[in-house]
Amino acid sequence: MEKVVIVRYSEIHLKGKNRGYFERALIINMEKALKGLKHEIIRQSGRYLVEGFDGAETDEIISRLKKVFGIHSLSVALKVQTDMENIFKAAESVCGECGKFKVSTHRADKAFCKDSMQINAEIGGRLLSKFKNLSVDVHNPDFIVNIDLRENGSTLVFNEFFKGAGGMPVGTSGRGTLLISGGIDSPVAGHMIAKRGMTVDCIHFHSYPYTNMQARDKVIELAKVLAKYTGGTKLYIVSVTRIQEEIHKKCNGEYMVTLLRRFMMKIAEKVAIKNGSQCLITGESLGQVASQTVEGITSSNSVVETLPVLRPLCGFDKDEIIERSRDMGAFEISIQPYEDCCTVFLPKHPVIKPSLTSIKEEENKLDFNALVEEAISTLEIIQL
Ligand code: ATP
Ligand code: MG
Repeated sequence: MEKVVIVRYSEIHLKGKNRGYFERALIINMEKALKGLKHEIIRQSGRYLVEGFDGAETDEIISRLKKVFGIHSLSVALKVQTDMENIFKAAESVCGECGKFKVSTHRADKAFCKDSMQINAEIGGRLLSKFKNLSVDVHNPDFIVNIDLRENGSTLVFNEFFKGAGGMPVGTSGRGTLLISGGIDSPVAGHMIAKRGMTVDCIHFHSYPYTNMQARDKVIELAKVLAKYTGGTKLYIVSVTRIQEEIHKKCNGEYMVTLLRRFMMKIAEKVAIKNGSQCLITGESLGQVASQTVEGITSSNSVVETLPVLRPLCGFDKDEIIERSRDMGAFEISIQPYEDCCTVFLPKHPVIKPSLTSIKEEENKLDFNALVEEAISTLEIIQL
């Protein structure tokens, strides 16, 4: 009896002629996720089987595959040779010892001597005599013993379903650049867009030495969490120290965050285009803070010339975002205290509804393009 993992796709089957493309992307992503673990992935119609792994690593395999977008559900199954004795032994070991159950057989091997109903009845009957606290309930079972007779003379027996991450395989929806801070929101935004199949690179802005190295390490840790879902990510790190000093020196302090945001967006756009990204992604949520009023968003948006800006969290409440952050495994990192560059030189009263005219007036006190180029010259790339 060998342990195997059944992997079922999610939306992929809807993609008609593109199906092969989606399947190849999924298999590449599964291979990346399982790197370092002995295994073999076998394609079957409409699903994959992971075989040849060490049984002690089953939980690790499931935990890694749960992070691969495009997977609808997973089951750990016992694979046996197709004969009633072996099928029963497998059913016996996946079956609970008490509760209501049913047996459900799927028979791709039409040549087998018994049909699905006969297999259900025989295996169900034998399980009932073996475990005295079991009863059959075909309408409302507590669990189902699934028996799947394959064409190749093997049978899979299982009773558990694990929910997969859903969505589409990363790599099938282009490439985007996520503006990632050390906060709760941006990693969640990246996760949501990656779920739709987009490859996500990250860009982070710091103002060292005003912000410390722990702030940087925290962002690296957050990008690593995201990388577990995306099969790796590139993290661009850019210093905006000079920009903030210049704003502080020359502009009305109330515009610090507004102006800084515009620099961030412009730099992100340039870095993104240079590296083949097709959009920017932010963790902005409408009205959450002063800079995220529609006027604030207009201000930061209007500096981006060619790329669309995706804001997947726009309609979410903070508690919904926190729930997603917990689910993806980022929350405990995000809540560690850190210094964000936006808190450096923070004005007592930031402008809440800045008009573009007044922003431009402030911005004209600076050499915008030269500061952008200078910041880009500090670019560091970390492959995660
Ligand atoms: P987050 O939790 O992602 O920090 P937030 O609700 O705290 O979001 P802000 O701090 O106003 O909101 O930032 C809005 C968005 O701007 C962030 O979600 C992120 O996309 C981007 N951003 C903010 N600070 C940085 C930074 N230092 N580096 C890169 N992007 C940033
Ligand atoms: Mg923040």
